[in-house]
Amino acid sequence: MVMSISQPVVTFVLLPWLWVTNGMPDPTWRDMLIRQEASRHTGGQVTLTTAEQKLDTYLHRLMEQEMSAAQFLPAIHFFKAKPLIQKSSIFKLLQKMPKGAALHIHSSSLVSVDWLVKNVTYRPHCYICFTWDNSVRFLFSDRQPFPRWDCFYWQLLETLRARIQDPIEFDNSLMQHLTLFTEDPDGEYPSQDVVWEKFEKAFIAAAGLITHAPVLRDYFYKGLEELHQDNVMYLELRSGLSRVCTYELDGTIHDKVWSLKTFQEVVNKFTADHPDFFGARIILSVHRALSVSVVKAAVKEAIELHKDFPDVVAGFDVVGREDTGRSLWYFREALSLPADLGVALPYFFHAGETDKEGTDVDQNILDALLFNTRRIGHGYALAHHPLAKDISRNRSVAVELCPISNQVLKLVSDLRNHPAAVLMSEGHPLVISSDDPSLFGTTGLSYDFYQAFVGIGGLKSNLGTLKELAVNSIRYSSLASSLKNTAQVMFEKKWDIFIATCL
Ligand SMILES: [Zn+2]
Repeated sequence: MVMSISQPVVTFVLLPWLWVTNGMPDPTWRDMLIRQEASRHTGGQVTLTTAEQKLDTYLHRLMEQEMSAAQFLPAIHFFKAKPLIQKSSIFKLLQKMPKGAALHIHSSSLVSVDWLVKNVTYRPHCYICFTWDNSVRFLFSDRQPFPRWDCFYWQLLETLRARIQDPIEFDNSLMQHLTLFTEDPDGEYPSQDVVWEKFEKAFIAAAGLITHAPVLRDYFYKGLEELHQDNVMYLELRSGLSRVCTYELDGTIHDKVWSLKTFQEVVNKFTADHPDFFGARIILSVHRALSVSVVKAAVKEAIELHKDFPDVVAGFDVVGREDTGRSLWYFREALSLPADLGVALPYFFHAGETDKEGTDVDQNILDALLFNTRRIGHGYALAHHPLAKDISRNRSVAVELCPISNQVLKLVSDLRNHPAAVLMSEGHPLVISSDDPSLFGTTGLSYDFYQAFVGIGGLKSNLGTLKELAVNSIRYSSLASSLKNTAQVMFEKKWDIFIATCL
Protein backbone atom coordinates (compact mmCIF):
# COMPACT_ATOMS: atom_id res chain seq x y z
CA MET A 1 0.00 0.00 0.00
CA VAL A 2 1.51 3.35 -1.07
CA MET A 3 1.40 6.14 1.51
CA SER A 4 1.48 9.74 0.39
CA ILE A 5 4.70 11.56 1.21
CA SER A 6 2.97 14.92 1.45
CA GLN A 7 1.42 16.04 4.72
CA PRO A 8 -1.67 13.89 5.32
CA VAL A 9 -4.98 15.69 5.32
CA VAL A 10 -6.76 14.51 8.44
CA THR A 11 -10.44 15.22 8.82
CA PHE A 12 -12.51 14.22 11.77
CA VAL A 13 -16.27 14.10 11.94
CA LEU A 14 -17.39 15.11 15.38
CA LEU A 15 -20.11 12.89 16.67
CA PRO A 16 -23.28 14.61 17.82
CA TRP A 17 -23.98 14.25 21.53
CA LEU A 18 -26.85 11.92 20.81
CA TRP A 19 -25.66 9.07 22.96
CA VAL A 20 -26.29 10.99 26.16
CA THR A 21 -29.25 9.15 27.66
CA ASN A 22 -30.43 8.42 31.13
CA GLY A 23 -30.19 4.68 30.68
CA MET A 24 -27.31 2.48 29.60
CA PRO A 25 -25.22 4.14 26.83
CA ASP A 26 -25.72 2.64 23.39
CA PRO A 27 -22.84 0.13 22.81
CA THR A 28 -22.71 1.00 19.09
CA TRP A 29 -22.05 4.65 19.95
CA ARG A 30 -19.37 3.50 22.36
CA ASP A 31 -17.68 1.45 19.61
CA MET A 32 -17.90 4.40 17.26
CA LEU A 33 -16.29 6.72 19.82
CA ILE A 34 -13.45 4.27 20.42
CA ARG A 35 -12.88 3.96 16.66
CA GLN A 36 -12.96 7.74 16.17
CA GLU A 37 -10.46 8.30 18.92
CA ALA A 38 -8.18 5.56 17.60
CA SER A 39 -8.26 7.15 14.15
CA ARG A 40 -6.64 10.29 15.60
CA HIS A 41 -3.66 8.33 16.95
CA THR A 42 -0.40 8.34 14.95
CA GLY A 43 -1.03 5.89 12.11
CA GLY A 44 -4.75 5.80 12.85
CA GLN A 45 -5.56 6.80 9.27
CA VAL A 46 -3.26 4.20 7.68
CA THR A 47 -5.15 1.48 5.83
CA LEU A 48 -3.37 -1.83 6.25
CA THR A 49 -3.24 -4.45 3.48
CA THR A 50 -4.35 -8.01 4.24
CA ALA A 51 -0.73 -9.07 4.75
CA GLU A 52 -0.10 -6.07 7.01
CA GLN A 53 -3.23 -6.86 9.03
CA LYS A 54 -1.91 -10.37 9.63
CA LEU A 55 1.38 -9.02 10.96
CA ASP A 56 -0.50 -6.43 13.00
CA THR A 57 -2.56 -9.14 14.71
CA TYR A 58 0.65 -10.93 15.66
CA LEU A 59 2.19 -7.67 16.87
CA HIS A 60 -0.89 -6.90 18.97
CA ARG A 61 -0.58 -10.26 20.69
CA LEU A 62 3.07 -9.61 21.45
CA MET A 63 2.21 -6.17 22.83
CA GLU A 64 -0.44 -7.66 25.14
CA GLN A 65 2.13 -10.12 26.44
CA GLU A 66 4.70 -7.37 27.11
CA MET A 67 2.12 -5.20 28.84
CA SER A 68 1.02 -7.96 31.17
CA ALA A 69 4.57 -9.16 31.96
CA ALA A 70 5.91 -8.84 35.51
CA GLN A 71 8.31 -6.11 34.39
CA PHE A 72 7.19 -3.46 31.91
CA LEU A 73 10.45 -2.56 30.23
CA PRO A 74 9.80 1.10 29.22
CA ALA A 75 9.09 1.80 32.91
CA ILE A 76 12.62 0.69 33.85
CA HIS A 77 15.76 2.75 33.27
CA PHE A 78 17.07 1.89 29.79
CA PHE A 79 20.50 0.85 31.10
CA LYS A 80 18.83 -1.87 33.16
CA ALA A 81 16.17 -2.70 30.58
CA LYS A 82 18.52 -2.98 27.58
CA PRO A 83 19.43 -6.69 27.96
CA LEU A 84 15.75 -7.51 28.48
CA ILE A 85 14.66 -5.42 25.47
CA GLN A 86 17.15 -7.37 23.34
CA LYS A 87 15.19 -10.53 24.14
CA SER A 88 11.83 -8.97 23.24
CA SER A 89 10.10 -10.35 20.12
CA ILE A 90 8.77 -6.86 19.35
CA PHE A 91 12.31 -5.47 19.45
CA LYS A 92 13.56 -8.21 17.13
CA LEU A 93 10.79 -7.34 14.70
CA LEU A 94 11.62 -3.63 14.94
CA GLN A 95 15.26 -4.37 14.11
CA LYS A 96 14.14 -5.93 10.83
CA MET A 97 11.66 -3.15 10.09
CA PRO A 98 12.71 -0.40 7.66
CA LYS A 99 12.70 2.74 9.77
CA GLY A 100 13.30 5.43 7.15
CA ALA A 101 15.53 8.24 8.40
CA ALA A 102 17.38 9.22 11.57
CA LEU A 103 16.79 12.97 11.80
CA HIS A 104 18.27 13.75 15.22
CA ILE A 105 21.74 12.36 15.93
CA HIS A 106 24.84 14.30 17.00
CA SER A 107 28.09 13.62 15.17
CA SER A 108 30.21 13.28 18.32
CA SER A 109 28.03 10.43 19.53
CA LEU A 110 27.31 8.58 16.31
CA VAL A 111 29.38 5.39 16.60
CA SER A 112 29.42 2.77 19.37
CA VAL A 113 32.15 3.24 21.98
CA ASP A 114 33.06 -0.41 21.56
CA TRP A 115 34.44 0.44 18.11
CA LEU A 116 36.12 3.61 19.35
CA VAL A 117 38.03 1.73 22.05
CA LYS A 118 38.70 -1.60 20.33
CA ASN A 119 39.52 -0.16 16.93
CA VAL A 120 40.52 3.50 17.16
CA THR A 121 42.55 3.48 20.39
CA TYR A 122 44.56 0.50 19.09
CA ARG A 123 45.80 2.50 16.11
CA PRO A 124 49.45 3.64 16.15
CA HIS A 125 50.48 7.03 17.57
CA CYS A 126 47.49 7.24 19.92
CA TYR A 127 48.35 9.08 23.16
CA ILE A 128 46.23 9.24 26.30
CA CYS A 129 46.19 11.61 29.24
CA PHE A 130 44.31 11.18 32.52
CA THR A 131 42.97 14.52 33.71
CA TRP A 132 42.64 15.89 37.27
CA ASP A 133 38.82 15.63 37.06
CA ASN A 134 38.85 11.89 36.43
CA SER A 135 38.42 12.08 32.68
CA VAL A 136 40.66 11.29 29.71
CA ARG A 137 41.95 13.01 26.59
CA PHE A 138 43.24 11.33 23.45
CA LEU A 139 45.59 12.69 20.82
CA PHE A 140 47.19 11.18 17.72
CA SER A 141 50.67 12.55 17.21
CA ASP A 142 53.91 11.55 15.47
CA ARG A 143 55.91 12.89 18.45
CA GLN A 144 55.48 13.20 22.23
CA PRO A 145 52.68 15.81 22.64
CA PHE A 146 53.41 18.98 24.61
CA PRO A 147 51.69 19.36 27.98
CA ARG A 148 48.63 21.62 27.89
CA TRP A 149 46.39 23.18 30.53
CA ASP A 150 44.17 20.10 30.92
CA CYS A 151 46.87 17.50 30.24
CA PHE A 152 50.34 17.46 31.77
CA TYR A 153 51.45 13.96 30.89
CA TRP A 154 50.65 12.15 27.66
CA GLN A 155 51.37 8.42 27.43
CA LEU A 156 51.53 6.36 24.28
CA LEU A 157 48.66 3.89 24.59
CA GLU A 158 50.68 1.11 22.95
CA THR A 159 53.38 1.41 25.65
CA LEU A 160 50.83 1.75 28.44
CA ARG A 161 48.91 -1.33 27.30
CA ALA A 162 52.14 -3.37 27.21
CA ARG A 163 52.53 -2.67 30.96
CA ILE A 164 48.93 -3.35 31.93
CA GLN A 165 48.04 -6.72 33.45
CA ASP A 166 44.36 -6.82 32.52
CA PRO A 167 43.83 -5.23 29.08
CA ILE A 168 40.11 -6.10 29.02
CA GLU A 169 39.53 -4.29 32.30
CA PHE A 170 41.57 -1.34 31.01
CA ASP A 171 39.50 -1.14 27.80
CA ASN A 172 36.29 -1.29 29.84
CA SER A 173 37.53 1.60 31.95
CA LEU A 174 38.20 3.61 28.77
CA MET A 175 34.66 2.87 27.59
CA GLN A 176 33.31 4.21 30.88
CA HIS A 177 34.84 7.59 30.02
CA LEU A 178 33.10 7.68 26.64
CA THR A 179 29.58 6.66 27.57
CA LEU A 180 26.94 7.29 30.22
CA PHE A 181 26.17 3.60 30.37
CA THR A 182 26.39 2.09 33.86
CA GLU A 183 24.74 -0.76 35.76
CA ASP A 184 23.67 1.62 38.52
CA PRO A 185 22.19 4.67 36.75
CA ASP A 186 20.09 5.81 39.71
CA GLY A 187 23.04 5.68 42.11
CA GLU A 188 25.54 7.28 39.72
CA TYR A 189 23.22 9.94 38.35
CA PRO A 190 21.05 11.22 41.20
CA SER A 191 20.14 14.47 39.38
CA GLN A 192 19.94 16.11 35.95
CA ASP A 193 23.02 18.20 36.82
CA VAL A 194 25.16 15.15 37.56
CA VAL A 195 24.14 13.25 34.43
CA TRP A 196 24.64 16.31 32.20
CA GLU A 197 28.10 16.88 33.70
CA LYS A 198 29.14 13.35 32.76
CA PHE A 199 27.46 13.81 29.37
CA GLU A 200 29.55 16.89 28.51
CA LYS A 201 32.73 15.21 29.83
CA ALA A 202 32.22 12.18 27.60
CA PHE A 203 31.84 14.43 24.54
CA ILE A 204 35.15 16.15 25.31
CA ALA A 205 36.90 12.82 25.97
CA ALA A 206 35.85 11.41 22.59
CA ALA A 207 36.82 14.55 20.62
CA GLY A 208 40.55 13.74 20.31
CA LEU A 209 39.76 10.36 18.77
CA ILE A 210 37.05 11.43 16.37
CA THR A 211 38.65 14.59 15.05
CA HIS A 212 41.82 12.85 13.87
CA ALA A 213 41.46 13.11 10.08
CA PRO A 214 41.96 9.41 9.12
CA VAL A 215 39.68 8.35 12.00
CA LEU A 216 36.98 10.85 11.00
CA ARG A 217 36.56 9.18 7.58
CA ASP A 218 36.27 5.71 9.12
CA TYR A 219 34.05 7.10 11.89
CA PHE A 220 31.49 8.54 9.45
CA TYR A 221 31.57 5.33 7.42
CA LYS A 222 31.13 3.16 10.52
CA GLY A 223 28.27 5.41 11.71
CA LEU A 224 26.42 4.95 8.42
CA GLU A 225 27.12 1.21 8.57
CA GLU A 226 25.56 0.90 12.05
CA LEU A 227 22.44 2.77 10.86
CA HIS A 228 22.23 0.73 7.67
CA GLN A 229 22.49 -2.52 9.65
CA ASP A 230 19.51 -1.36 11.69
CA ASN A 231 17.52 -0.73 8.48
CA VAL A 232 17.81 3.04 8.51
CA MET A 233 18.28 4.48 5.02
CA TYR A 234 18.99 8.19 5.50
CA LEU A 235 20.61 10.46 8.11
CA GLU A 236 20.53 14.13 9.07
CA LEU A 237 23.49 14.61 11.38
CA ARG A 238 23.92 17.56 13.71
CA SER A 239 27.56 18.50 13.68
CA GLY A 240 29.44 21.29 15.38
CA LEU A 241 32.07 21.52 12.70
CA SER A 242 32.50 25.06 13.87
CA ARG A 243 33.62 23.95 17.34
CA VAL A 244 36.33 21.36 16.78
CA CYS A 245 38.58 21.22 13.75
CA THR A 246 40.09 18.06 12.33
CA TYR A 247 43.83 17.39 12.69
CA GLU A 248 46.54 15.26 11.09
CA LEU A 249 49.34 13.32 12.79
CA ASP A 250 51.82 16.17 12.32
CA GLY A 251 49.40 18.67 13.89
CA THR A 252 48.11 20.17 10.62
CA ILE A 253 44.59 21.51 11.12
CA HIS A 254 41.81 21.24 8.56
CA ASP A 255 38.97 23.73 8.24
CA LYS A 256 35.23 23.11 8.09
CA VAL A 257 35.20 22.99 4.31
CA TRP A 258 37.60 20.04 4.46
CA SER A 259 35.36 18.29 7.01
CA LEU A 260 32.27 18.86 4.89
CA LYS A 261 34.01 17.57 1.75
CA THR A 262 35.22 14.53 3.69
CA PHE A 263 31.69 13.86 4.90
CA GLN A 264 30.39 14.18 1.34
CA GLU A 265 33.07 11.77 0.02
CA VAL A 266 32.31 9.20 2.71
CA VAL A 267 28.55 9.42 2.09
CA ASN A 268 29.12 9.00 -1.66
CA LYS A 269 31.36 6.00 -1.09
CA PHE A 270 28.90 4.46 1.35
CA THR A 271 25.91 4.84 -0.98
CA ALA A 272 28.00 3.40 -3.85
CA ASP A 273 28.87 0.40 -1.63
CA HIS A 274 25.27 0.14 -0.35
CA PRO A 275 22.85 1.20 -3.12
CA ASP A 276 19.87 0.72 -0.80
CA PHE A 277 21.14 3.53 1.46
CA PHE A 278 19.75 6.89 0.43
CA GLY A 279 22.33 9.33 1.84
CA ALA A 280 23.11 11.79 4.61
CA ARG A 281 23.17 15.54 5.24
CA ILE A 282 24.52 17.78 7.98
CA ILE A 283 22.75 20.28 10.22
CA LEU A 284 25.48 22.66 11.31
CA SER A 285 25.30 23.33 15.02
CA VAL A 286 26.75 25.73 17.54
CA HIS A 287 26.78 25.49 21.35
CA ARG A 288 24.31 27.64 23.27
CA ALA A 289 26.95 28.50 25.92
CA LEU A 290 28.69 30.76 23.39
CA SER A 291 28.29 34.52 23.02
CA VAL A 292 25.96 36.30 20.60
CA SER A 293 28.91 37.43 18.47
CA VAL A 294 30.28 33.88 18.17
CA VAL A 295 26.84 32.50 17.29
CA LYS A 296 26.40 35.34 14.81
CA ALA A 297 29.68 34.38 13.12
CA ALA A 298 28.54 30.72 13.06
CA VAL A 299 25.23 31.72 11.42
CA LYS A 300 27.13 33.79 8.84
CA GLU A 301 29.41 30.85 8.12
CA ALA A 302 26.46 28.45 7.93
CA ILE A 303 24.82 30.70 5.32
CA GLU A 304 27.97 30.44 3.18
CA LEU A 305 28.36 26.69 3.65
CA HIS A 306 24.67 26.10 2.92
CA LYS A 307 25.11 28.07 -0.31
CA ASP A 308 28.36 26.29 -1.30
CA PHE A 309 27.27 22.76 -0.28
CA PRO A 310 23.51 22.71 -0.88
CA ASP A 311 23.41 18.91 -1.14
CA VAL A 312 25.26 18.38 2.15
CA VAL A 313 24.25 21.24 4.45
CA ALA A 314 20.60 20.98 5.50
CA GLY A 315 20.53 23.90 7.92
CA PHE A 316 21.47 25.16 11.36
CA ASP A 317 20.80 24.45 15.04
CA VAL A 318 21.82 25.67 18.51
CA VAL A 319 22.74 22.75 20.79
CA GLY A 320 23.74 21.98 24.39
CA ARG A 321 21.73 21.75 27.59
CA GLU A 322 18.83 24.19 27.41
CA ASP A 323 18.36 24.52 31.18
CA THR A 324 21.84 25.96 31.77
CA GLY A 325 22.50 27.41 28.33
CA ARG A 326 21.28 30.56 26.67
CA SER A 327 17.80 30.80 25.22
CA LEU A 328 17.01 31.17 21.53
CA TRP A 329 15.61 34.63 22.25
CA TYR A 330 19.00 35.62 23.71
CA PHE A 331 20.47 34.89 20.27
CA ARG A 332 17.68 36.71 18.39
CA GLU A 333 20.07 39.16 16.71
CA ALA A 334 22.24 36.32 15.39
CA LEU A 335 19.29 34.16 14.35
CA SER A 336 17.64 37.03 12.46
CA LEU A 337 20.70 37.42 10.27
CA PRO A 338 19.50 35.26 7.34
CA ALA A 339 16.19 37.16 7.19
CA ASP A 340 18.01 40.51 7.47
CA LEU A 341 20.29 39.52 4.59
CA GLY A 342 17.40 38.12 2.57
CA VAL A 343 18.95 34.64 2.34
CA ALA A 344 17.65 31.21 3.33
CA LEU A 345 19.08 29.16 6.17
CA PRO A 346 16.69 26.44 7.37
CA TYR A 347 16.58 26.05 11.15
CA PHE A 348 16.17 22.75 13.01
CA PHE A 349 16.16 23.91 16.60
CA HIS A 350 16.44 21.91 19.78
CA ALA A 351 13.63 23.35 21.88
CA GLY A 352 11.63 22.38 24.92
CA GLU A 353 14.12 19.78 26.21
CA THR A 354 13.14 20.88 29.70
CA ASP A 355 10.73 20.32 32.56
CA LYS A 356 11.15 23.86 33.91
CA GLU A 357 7.68 25.04 33.05
CA GLY A 358 7.16 28.78 32.61
CA THR A 359 10.87 29.72 32.64
CA ASP A 360 12.72 31.51 29.81
CA VAL A 361 14.05 28.12 28.74
CA ASP A 362 10.50 26.87 28.43
CA GLN A 363 9.79 29.66 25.90
CA ASN A 364 12.36 28.20 23.50
CA ILE A 365 9.50 26.23 21.95
CA LEU A 366 7.60 29.38 20.93
CA ASP A 367 10.79 31.15 19.90
CA ALA A 368 11.85 28.23 17.71
CA LEU A 369 8.53 28.54 15.89
CA LEU A 370 8.90 32.33 15.66
CA PHE A 371 12.20 31.74 13.88
CA ASN A 372 10.44 29.32 11.49
CA THR A 373 12.12 26.17 12.67
CA ARG A 374 11.51 23.24 10.28
CA ARG A 375 11.42 20.70 13.10
CA ILE A 376 11.59 20.78 16.91
CA GLY A 377 14.38 18.78 18.55
CA HIS A 378 12.81 16.93 21.52
CA GLY A 379 9.86 19.27 22.14
CA TYR A 380 9.43 17.60 25.53
CA ALA A 381 7.61 20.72 26.79
CA LEU A 382 5.36 21.07 23.73
CA ALA A 383 2.34 19.32 25.25
CA HIS A 384 2.19 22.16 27.81
CA HIS A 385 2.10 24.85 25.12
CA PRO A 386 -1.30 24.67 23.41
CA LEU A 387 -0.59 27.53 21.04
CA ALA A 388 2.85 26.26 20.05
CA LYS A 389 1.32 22.81 19.59
CA ASP A 390 -1.30 24.21 17.20
CA ILE A 391 1.31 26.16 15.23
CA SER A 392 3.60 23.15 15.05
CA ARG A 393 0.77 20.96 13.78
CA ASN A 394 -0.63 23.49 11.30
CA ARG A 395 2.81 24.28 9.87
CA SER A 396 3.84 20.59 9.79
CA VAL A 397 6.77 21.22 12.11
CA ALA A 398 7.52 17.72 13.34
CA VAL A 399 8.78 16.91 16.81
CA GLU A 400 11.94 14.79 16.91
CA LEU A 401 11.12 12.42 19.74
CA CYS A 402 14.15 10.78 21.41
CA PRO A 403 12.64 8.76 24.29
CA ILE A 404 15.80 7.08 25.60
CA SER A 405 17.64 10.41 25.70
CA ASN A 406 14.79 11.97 27.70
CA GLN A 407 14.82 9.08 30.16
CA VAL A 408 18.61 8.88 30.60
CA LEU A 409 18.87 12.67 31.00
CA LYS A 410 16.20 12.42 33.66
CA LEU A 411 13.23 14.30 32.22
CA VAL A 412 11.04 11.25 32.72
CA SER A 413 11.63 7.87 34.35
CA ASP A 414 8.62 5.75 33.35
CA LEU A 415 8.15 6.30 29.61
CA ARG A 416 4.39 5.75 29.92
CA ASN A 417 4.38 9.24 31.46
CA HIS A 418 6.23 10.86 28.56
CA PRO A 419 4.25 13.90 27.29
CA ALA A 420 4.63 12.60 23.74
CA ALA A 421 1.86 10.13 24.64
CA VAL A 422 -0.48 13.12 24.24
CA LEU A 423 1.11 14.09 20.91
CA MET A 424 0.89 10.53 19.66
CA SER A 425 -2.75 10.18 20.68
CA GLU A 426 -3.53 13.29 18.59
CA GLY A 427 -1.48 12.23 15.57
CA HIS A 428 0.86 15.21 15.99
CA PRO A 429 3.72 15.23 13.41
CA LEU A 430 6.39 13.06 15.06
CA VAL A 431 9.61 11.33 14.09
CA ILE A 432 11.69 8.97 16.24
CA SER A 433 15.42 9.39 16.75
CA SER A 434 18.27 8.41 19.05
CA ASP A 435 20.03 11.74 19.82
CA ASP A 436 23.35 10.39 21.18
CA PRO A 437 23.41 6.64 20.51
CA SER A 438 26.99 5.94 21.64
CA LEU A 439 26.51 7.78 24.95
CA PHE A 440 23.29 5.91 25.71
CA GLY A 441 24.58 2.52 24.56
CA THR A 442 22.23 2.16 21.60
CA THR A 443 22.85 1.61 17.91
CA GLY A 444 20.42 2.53 15.14
CA LEU A 445 16.86 3.49 15.95
CA SER A 446 15.32 0.18 17.04
CA TYR A 447 15.70 0.81 20.77
CA ASP A 448 14.02 4.22 20.53
CA PHE A 449 11.30 2.82 18.28
CA TYR A 450 10.70 0.13 20.88
CA GLN A 451 10.33 2.67 23.69
CA ALA A 452 8.07 4.94 21.63
CA PHE A 453 5.94 2.09 20.34
CA VAL A 454 5.57 0.00 23.50
CA GLY A 455 6.07 2.59 26.23
CA ILE A 456 4.60 5.80 24.83
CA GLY A 457 2.08 4.37 22.35
CA GLY A 458 0.98 1.24 24.23
CA LEU A 459 -1.90 -0.84 22.96
CA LYS A 460 -3.24 2.16 21.04
CA SER A 461 -0.33 1.70 18.64
CA ASN A 462 -0.29 -0.77 15.81
CA LEU A 463 1.61 -1.52 12.63
CA GLY A 464 0.08 1.61 11.06
CA THR A 465 1.72 3.67 13.83
CA LEU A 466 5.12 2.22 13.04
CA LYS A 467 4.66 2.78 9.31
CA GLU A 468 3.48 6.34 9.81
CA LEU A 469 6.47 7.11 12.07
CA ALA A 470 8.89 5.70 9.50
CA VAL A 471 7.23 7.54 6.59
CA ASN A 472 7.20 10.72 8.69
CA SER A 473 10.99 10.60 8.84
CA ILE A 474 11.12 11.03 5.06
CA ARG A 475 8.12 13.38 4.93
CA TYR A 476 9.65 15.79 7.49
CA SER A 477 13.26 15.47 6.33
CA SER A 478 15.12 18.39 4.78
CA LEU A 479 15.16 16.71 1.35
CA ALA A 480 13.72 18.48 -1.69
CA SER A 481 10.30 17.09 -2.64
CA SER A 482 11.58 15.18 -5.69
CA LEU A 483 14.19 13.44 -3.52
CA LYS A 484 11.53 12.73 -0.88
CA ASN A 485 9.50 10.95 -3.53
CA THR A 486 12.51 8.86 -4.60
CA ALA A 487 13.27 8.02 -0.96
CA GLN A 488 9.64 7.13 -0.39
CA VAL A 489 9.65 4.69 -3.32
CA MET A 490 12.82 3.12 -1.93
CA PHE A 491 11.19 2.87 1.49
CA GLU A 492 8.00 1.26 0.12
CA LYS A 493 10.07 -1.46 -1.57
CA LYS A 494 11.88 -2.21 1.69
CA TRP A 495 8.59 -2.17 3.59
CA ASP A 496 6.94 -4.67 1.21
CA ILE A 497 9.92 -7.02 1.55
CA PHE A 498 9.73 -6.66 5.34
CA ILE A 499 6.02 -7.55 5.39
CA ALA A 500 6.54 -10.49 3.03
CA THR A 501 9.47 -11.92 5.02
CA CYS A 502 7.79 -11.48 8.41
CA LEU A 503 4.75 -13.61 7.51
ZN1 LIG B 1 20.09 16.51 20.54
